[in-house]
Amino acid sequence: MKKKKRILFVGIAVITALILMIVRVPKHTAAVDISKEVHHAPVMPSSFTPKDAPLQYNHSKRKVVYLTFDDGPGAYTPQVLSILKQNHIQAAFFLIGSHAQQYPSLVKQELQSGDYIGLHSMSHTYKKLYVQGTFVPEMLETQQIIKGIIGIAPRLARPPYGSMPGLTQQLRNQAVEAHLLVWDWTIDSLDWTYDKKPLDRSVPAIVNNVLSHAVRDREVVLMHDIHPQSVQALPLIIEGLRAKGYDFEVYNEANHFPMNFWHDGRL
Ligand SMILES: [Zn+2]
Repeated sequence: MKKKKRILFVGIAVITALILMIVRVPKHTAAVDISKEVHHAPVMPSSFTPKDAPLQYNHSKRKVVYLTFDDGPGAYTPQVLSILKQNHIQAAFFLIGSHAQQYPSLVKQELQSGDYIGLHSMSHTYKKLYVQGTFVPEMLETQQIIKGIIGIAPRLARPPYGSMPGLTQQLRNQAVEAHLLVWDWTIDSLDWTYDKKPLDRSVPAIVNNVLSHAVRDREVVLMHDIHPQSVQALPLIIEGLRAKGYDFEVYNEANHFPMNFWHDGRL
């Protein structure tokens, strides 16, 4: 009886200590402070807020990866959504306006899955976006199309071809005035470059492109949901990133942090 009581006492002490440890861990990271400077427009519903876990945890840094898919929605988007669902993770999809108009039910499905829906322009043309300077009006047009489908106007834009060198200071100023945010990436899967190449060669190459570059505590992976090789590579990329200790998070405007090649903190 005495022994049982002692075990019970030790058990309670351990549980109490664990609760105290969890409570004392800081809830937010530096990334959150940046969002305070940002004017907040309507964001994705709060039920889709990502796990709000700290980057620093018991002296060991948490490694976080954000999967992002550009150029959709398209014929391969349902497969990507299904793989994400099987793995209980979410991603960000940066949509081309006309593709959103073509596949409104996929846009709704992305929202229902808890994914972030962002902007990826109308024309996807370097010359138009950056030489003629239509970046902001094209992103705003895409924003209105998406708002018409899901009732939410996203602010985060993924610049086609990346923000460097096309998104000049003048265009970035316009983006700031239009309350847009801009995200590039840290890892390019180069998935689109393997179009029409045999899958048994392209898939391992894409997986390796991502996994060999996943070395930082926070990575943003660029992929596309309009190519078969990307779909085939995705489960292996998820598995490999998990094995490297990464947690998967989905972008959320409320927790925005700058991720652009210009290091422009306003975006
Ligand atoms: Zn693109």
